[in-house]
Amino acid sequence: ETIGANLERTVARFGDREALVDVAAGRRWTYAELDADVNRLAHGLLAKGIEPGDRVGIWAPNCAEWVITQYATAKIGAILVNVNPAYRTHELRYVVEQSGLRLLISAESFKTSDYRAMVTSIGFDDVVYIGTAGFTDLFREGGELDLQEALAFDDPINIQYTSGTTGFPKGATLSHHNILNNGYFVGELIKYTEQDRVCLPVPLYHCFGMVMGNLAATSHGACIVLPAPGFDPAATLAAVAAESCTSLYGVPTMFIAELGLPDFAEYDLSTLRTGIMAGSPCPVEVMKRVVAEMNMSEVAICYGMTETSPVSTMTRPDDTLARRTETVGRVMPHLESKVVDPDSGRPVPHGEPGELCTRGYSVMLGYWNQPEATAEAIDPARWMHTGDLATMDDEGYVNIVGRIKDLVIRGGENVYPREVEEFLYTHPDIADVQVIGVPDAKYGEELMAWIVMRPDATPLTADNVREFCAGKLTHYKVPRYVHVVDGFPMTVTGKVRKVEMREQAVGILG
Ligand code: ATP
Ligand code: MG
Repeated sequence: ETIGANLERTVARFGDREALVDVAAGRRWTYAELDADVNRLAHGLLAKGIEPGDRVGIWAPNCAEWVITQYATAKIGAILVNVNPAYRTHELRYVVEQSGLRLLISAESFKTSDYRAMVTSIGFDDVVYIGTAGFTDLFREGGELDLQEALAFDDPINIQYTSGTTGFPKGATLSHHNILNNGYFVGELIKYTEQDRVCLPVPLYHCFGMVMGNLAATSHGACIVLPAPGFDPAATLAAVAAESCTSLYGVPTMFIAELGLPDFAEYDLSTLRTGIMAGSPCPVEVMKRVVAEMNMSEVAICYGMTETSPVSTMTRPDDTLARRTETVGRVMPHLESKVVDPDSGRPVPHGEPGELCTRGYSVMLGYWNQPEATAEAIDPARWMHTGDLATMDDEGYVNIVGRIKDLVIRGGENVYPREVEEFLYTHPDIADVQVIGVPDAKYGEELMAWIVMRPDATPLTADNVREFCAGKLTHYKVPRYVHVVDGFPMTVTGKVRKVEMREQAVGILG
């Protein structure tokens, strides 16, 4: 099935129900209205000469037009290129040129001279700004589109550049089949129905928003609620309360920010039932607070990556609370996963760490125009090698130990920063913590903890941390350096950029 055909099926069943709310813009659409706008934009894109397989970029923070563009391009078989709204000239040029963009749809707020200058400087001129006549002119009456028969479910439909956490972003090329099925199964496991209202403070240009959010919701007749263009913890909780949301998504740092709002207790979160935490390691303490204090008793953890559409493992509502807070669940329906020795490629025994690999319908078609990078990531048996270290128990529950690239080797001992972070989260004065390895003449690497203190707490010193760890954590896992900060260098998807932290740390330590 194509994304367009799937949307039409939902419209036939739930046409009168609400499909989309853009809280910041104060606008809302039923499924019938959404489909009508999607069809109008699709006709306009066709009239502009956009053909199946052409790349159409969208460079905008979250807004309703983002969603409309996603479905309109899917309906005509154009390839949507998600362009990170935080990109500046260098990355923009890369994405525009690398993907061979025909048209760029840009945000209303990007009409300012800075943004225009960026586009001009790369010599690209087919840009349409949301909220201008150029964009509204793209909405053409033309009625139902009769194209779905002609489109193939395994055609490329989307290029999503990876977050760039570990290096330069790579363009994962995904089909209708890849992302529609993944979104559908996320919706199934989280038990979405047309009664659900899904609050999405996560970026739409990332698969977390556009697949686990939009496609999971629309394939089940649920409503998408966009609280604000960028992440704003207060606006998010206000949207949950005002729109009676049943589900809330976030990367861990978003939930930490929401829980930390001074007036947190004043938001009515009683309609929440479920939600998803994903994207980076989900601290057990934070998961517990989300269940207990945000009323999200069925909250799930998902693990995945852009290259696998994204979700490959997920917790289920009937898993025990311990498993729903401490593991990333089990493999998704119709996918396979295994944990292998990164050197030999052979599966490791249950409980031992190795590289997690995923296989099945969700594995991307490949990196756009990068056959070598594709061949490095996907082996001849079609297993996607994730670059993540994980353990799997004998019932199939997976634990993410960390990225292979973040593993710290101190004096010959492997230290998984995640384990140290989890332990430090139990300190009552610590709001957020990240542990990295820094070069050390004697041990090869030493551990450094970057700590965000809770409001009003006295900043911790390395001695304080050492005392806290004494007798509880093996000596070589105890951070030698402590750096108290207000926040971490982040990707816009909310991931901590340890690469950049390591660079800064080298500067700090001299
Ligand atoms: P790049 O590949 O460009 O360096 P990236 O890997 O961060 O960036 P994404 O595809 O957005 O780009 O993120 C996928 C990665 O996020 C996974 O490989 C994993 O390291 C991490 N991740 C996702 N979900 C979880 C989770 N629940 N627990 C731990 N890590 C997670
Ligand atoms: Mg990656």
